[in-house]
Amino acid sequence: MNRIVLVRYGEIILKGMNRPVFESLLVKNIKKALKDECPMSIHWAQATIYIEPEDDSCVESIVEKLKRVFGIVSIVVAYPAAKDIDELEQTLADNFSAELSAASTFKVIAKRSDKTFHMTSPQICEEIGGRLLERFPNLSVDVHSPEVNVYVEIRETGYVHLDRISGAGGMPSGSNGKAMLLLSGGIDSPVAGYMIGKRGVQLEAIHFFSYPYTSDRAKDKVLKLGKIIAGYTGSLKVHIVPFTDIQLQIRDKCPEEHLTLVMRRFMMQISQRIAEKRGCSALITGESIGQVASQTMGALAVTDDAVTMPVFRPLIGMDKEEIVEISRKIDTYETSILPYEDCCTVFTPRHPSTKPKLAKVLLSQNQLDIERLIDEAVEGTEIVEV
Ligand code: ATP
Ligand code: MG
Repeated sequence: MNRIVLVRYGEIILKGMNRPVFESLLVKNIKKALKDECPMSIHWAQATIYIEPEDDSCVESIVEKLKRVFGIVSIVVAYPAAKDIDELEQTLADNFSAELSAASTFKVIAKRSDKTFHMTSPQICEEIGGRLLERFPNLSVDVHSPEVNVYVEIRETGYVHLDRISGAGGMPSGSNGKAMLLLSGGIDSPVAGYMIGKRGVQLEAIHFFSYPYTSDRAKDKVLKLGKIIAGYTGSLKVHIVPFTDIQLQIRDKCPEEHLTLVMRRFMMQISQRIAEKRGCSALITGESIGQVASQTMGALAVTDDAVTMPVFRPLIGMDKEEIVEISRKIDTYETSILPYEDCCTVFTPRHPSTKPKLAKVLLSQNQLDIERLIDEAVEGTEIVEV
């Protein structure tokens, strides 16, 4: 008998009338995430999705993929056992002795969907609970807040499992519209994308590329980050925008203290243009107050003024250490710290203005043929699906 994987989801239960829509979206996302795994059957009942792989050896890799699917609160791997109390107890002891030896309190939760089984759920709890107490002298029963929940299910066969693996949480990708992530090669923007993606927002990404000032390796790094994000959101289109002309013109025509802000306004404007074309209703950046000169409140106001679309900055109140912690958790950190240059660092002024006046920045930007530059950048954009 093969193990089965049970998936529980949380917040989407709250959605009342929309619940079936959210559930089927989650199941669709799960199927997509598991499309390269062995054949399996997937069905759902009572806020649980049951995944039954045809080949037991793919359980571990299924679990790894499920850990990245937004909307999943917890994942358990259940072990089959004959519908017999001795067998159920033995299966628990064989597979969970490490957890049960390390805990001090537990509780048994029994579910009997096969009503022909000779014991009721309370009787199963009492019997299995008593036997575990004997087998693991370290344990005592705590029905209110046990360290370990032991589940025994009697279905077409018996199953046992513990509450174990945390899912990614959040809401199913695609359940809350679509937004455009400004993705650099740094630590922050992938984390920002993850955070908004977690709320069920489908993502596309845009990257400003200043060839030959930034190399193909820098582009590959961004695509690699995009691929990691796609592991959570299902898929990701990355729009690669040629940005060299704009940067050179800014460098030649604008006062040095405004270089970064004029460049950031162009980034926002081009992003909004492409976002509108792609049906996105917001932009996402990895900015956080005061992190660099272009992220003071005054500078953010100048950047914001360039667009009408809402700009989501989920890292706005976070310290770098907190951002790094998330980036490690979501596996983008190691890629983000690879030493490839970003277009912003190549053209960074020595003395950027930290208290910019919008009117003055506008004067600087207006020296350029803004509309033509934006049109050309949009036209030259290449789309890569990662
Ligand atoms: P990150 O670590 O994400 O690179 P940062 O601290 O280096 O951020 P900036 O370089 O000022 O900060 O960029 C702020 C935000 O602007 C980034 O988080 C990202 O959303 C966006 N951004 C910066 N450079 C690019 C780029 N080349 N392409 C797309 N977006 C970019
Ligand atoms: Mg950066």
